[in-house]
Amino acid sequence: MKAHDGMYIGGEWRAAAGQDTIAVVNPADEQVIGRVPAGTPQDVDTAVRAARAALPGWAATPPAERAARIAALRDALVARKDEIAETVTAELGSPLPFSQTVHAGLPALVAGSYAELAATYPFEEKVGNSTVLSEPAGVVGAITPWNYPLHQIVAKVAPALAAGCTVVLKPAEDTPLTAQLFAEATGEAGLPAGVFNLVTGTGPVAGQALAGHDGVDLVSFTGSTAVGRQIGAVAGAAVKRVALELGGKSANVILPSADLAKAVHVGIANVMGNSGQTCSAWTRMLVHRDQYEEAVALAAAAIGKYVPGERVGPLVNAKQQARVRGYIAKGVEEGARLVAGGPEAPLDRGYYVSPTLFADVTPEMTIAQEEIFGPVVSILRYEDEEDALRIANATVYGLAGAVWAADEAEAVAFARRMDTGQVDINGGRFNPRAPFGGYKQSGVGRELGSHGLAEYLQTKSLQF
Ligand code: NAD
Repeated sequence: MKAHDGMYIGGEWRAAAGQDTIAVVNPADEQVIGRVPAGTPQDVDTAVRAARAALPGWAATPPAERAARIAALRDALVARKDEIAETVTAELGSPLPFSQTVHAGLPALVAGSYAELAATYPFEEKVGNSTVLSEPAGVVGAITPWNYPLHQIVAKVAPALAAGCTVVLKPAEDTPLTAQLFAEATGEAGLPAGVFNLVTGTGPVAGQALAGHDGVDLVSFTGSTAVGRQIGAVAGAAVKRVALELGGKSANVILPSADLAKAVHVGIANVMGNSGQTCSAWTRMLVHRDQYEEAVALAAAAIGKYVPGERVGPLVNAKQQARVRGYIAKGVEEGARLVAGGPEAPLDRGYYVSPTLFADVTPEMTIAQEEIFGPVVSILRYEDEEDALRIANATVYGLAGAVWAADEAEAVAFARRMDTGQVDINGGRFNPRAPFGGYKQSGVGRELGSHGLAEYLQTKSLQF
């Protein structure tokens, strides 16, 4: 894998201020595949200055021209889709077909949606005797995680660019090579120098310096609740805008009238994709007591098809592997029934975890409350619809979810009562233009589509 030894600042690769580097490891075989510079507060400062210098010009660029540059960025991502997929597989470990369709394919769709939105969004509106202008929020500090390395970058950078903002990105330590590819693509797309800047580095050093920098107007963060809380506090103290996309513990509610086999199969597949490292994964399957054992048997058969090293990849690093194995051990300790998998590592090499299924999980158990971020599904039993709703809503999270019923209206009526930001009805497809974000402790703000664009705007009213 090719790795740059500098930072992408002001439209060029520049030497890093410090000497330290971060090793990038392939989690499937534990081999070091590259090294990137560990950014210092000085690198962050240089990048923020470049973004600030580029802001007036980009903010004043007509939306149609911004749209053309975002379309060119989409084209650059499409042209490099094979390289992107291979790079994500090398540093994240997801099987190549998943990297091709999701990790490389989805960001191109999202970038395309913002090329269109930039050209069509009503940046000026009449309200009575006022004209309301939607102006860029300013310099954006984007801090992204490793689980969908390119998608998380594009879901922040594309709407920020569409809004007329300039950006400094600090990507996750585990997946910086994908971020470097993205930086190259922004150059190929002809973005003016300084509109997009990349600083690789660790969270506590480069991430913290970016979140706390006076020259940053808005911080957009995706990652753990613990770090999100900290970033929210820093941003709040500085009266700075903040968007937080945090964890989830989403419920897959299978109502008694549903097609049980389909709901269980899709539910298992939803968690196994990306080795369970998906914030919106439906990690709690809720089944009526009369269908419970049938659902457990169906789920056991479905999960058996996910062979580690074949259909399911490793976790991103040793720490995440240990964390997930710890949760599995905790589930056993708290009395859940282990139906498949378990805490033992399935392969000698690589950060693999056995696809694991727990039955007899009760709502208070740790594995029913905390985000595990691995290939682990818990099946919970409910007595009636009210009980299902109470269980579905009984975590601190509210990011996503699913409802299955014979009648769509029945599923929608249930979904309306769920405290969560997204609900898929009878296996509804992912929509890259639908707002994505959380209720409760799953976050603040929305990404994707026009709602995602609005996050990067501030309004000014002119009265006549
Ligand atoms: P993390 O929150 O530590 O990392 C996310 C990003 O924040 C990275 O770029 C990291 O460098 C940066 N960061 C870390 N500390 C920071 C700080 N003090 N200031 C500024 N930036 C900082 O997440 P993690 O340790 O990689 O994963 C731990 C858990 O977080 C996972 O098990 C999972 O539960 C959750 N997670 C959620 C998502 C999501 O999509 N919502 C993504 C990744 C991880």
